[in-house]
Amino acid sequence: MALKFDGKVAIVTGAGNGLGKSHAYALAERGAKVVVNDLGGAMDGTGGSVSPAPDVAAHINASGGEAIADGANVTKPEEVGAMVAAAMEKWGRVDILVNNAGILRDKTFHKMSLEDFRAVIDVHLFGSAVCTHAVWPIMREQNYGRVIFTSSPSGLHGIFGQANYGAAKAGMIGMMNALHLEGAKYNIKVNALSPSAKTRMTEDLGFPEDILNQLTPEAITAALIYLVSDDAPSRAIVSCAGGGYARAYMVETDGVYLSPDKQTPEDIASDWEKISSTDQVHYYENSSGPIANFMAKAQQR
Ligand code: NAD
Repeated sequence: MALKFDGKVAIVTGAGNGLGKSHAYALAERGAKVVVNDLGGAMDGTGGSVSPAPDVAAHINASGGEAIADGANVTKPEEVGAMVAAAMEKWGRVDILVNNAGILRDKTFHKMSLEDFRAVIDVHLFGSAVCTHAVWPIMREQNYGRVIFTSSPSGLHGIFGQANYGAAKAGMIGMMNALHLEGAKYNIKVNALSPSAKTRMTEDLGFPEDILNQLTPEAITAALIYLVSDDAPSRAIVSCAGGGYARAYMVETDGVYLSPDKQTPEDIASDWEKISSTDQVHYYENSSGPIANFMAKAQQR
């Protein structure tokens, strides 16, 4: 059955280009009213050119959908507050937030200035917190919300030259885990995407052209649409690229229990293979999982 969003209101940040634009078009085509947010500017976050958001919103409105453009900088709580207030005034609710805005300042860590580190954290991680914080009370009140964090393979697995970006993208997973727990009783579902797609961000990364051409933003949008639908899961990290879809998990090995006399670095060294073995792994519901696992092992002795 087609996933529809009639009557729903969505905010998509960074929706003037790339993935966000594709998400905004698809949400509008499926019936959502969309706030198309984008600050404009260059890929490194400098410049603040004329925002591409009005063009995307105009296209949606011309195609029979409903959209408004917004130029808020996601790092600025007052601007984001005004954006959310505009959506509330026009449509009276906010059901879906897609945290998608992003910039890149790639450099190896020894050449990276702290300013480049902070700027990337600011847009991706703090910007996602600012936007989510602005809609959270509305979603709680409505007893309905769908929030997406746009993470990255860089955050989950690492990419050379992206210490700043990887830290921001991994940080989102921590935020998702907590908000999943806090939102559960209000029917707020919180998920993450870990995409790879052909956009201005990836055009110069040296992927072979034939592979790059398969990495369409629309393939990512298909996963996004599922993750913001009524029957969405929560706390899912969906890895997707070029038509491939997988779920990523933060898991922990079963590990070992060492009795008090053996809780030494030397015993850890000699048990390292067992500690590291992925033969049996656990996916925990929350942070008390590891303690429960270790205490159960201690009792088995
Ligand atoms: P993009 O550069 O085409 O789009 C990002 C948009 O965010 C731009 O239009 C930009 O103007 C906007 N933006 C930047 N800073 C902003 C701010 N402070 N406030 C509001 N808008 C702002 O890049 P994209 O590839 O479409 O990336 C979208 C998201 O997906 C990003 O978070 C990116 O990190 C993530 N991502 C992309 C890939 C990929 O392969 N393209 C991989 C992993 C993650």
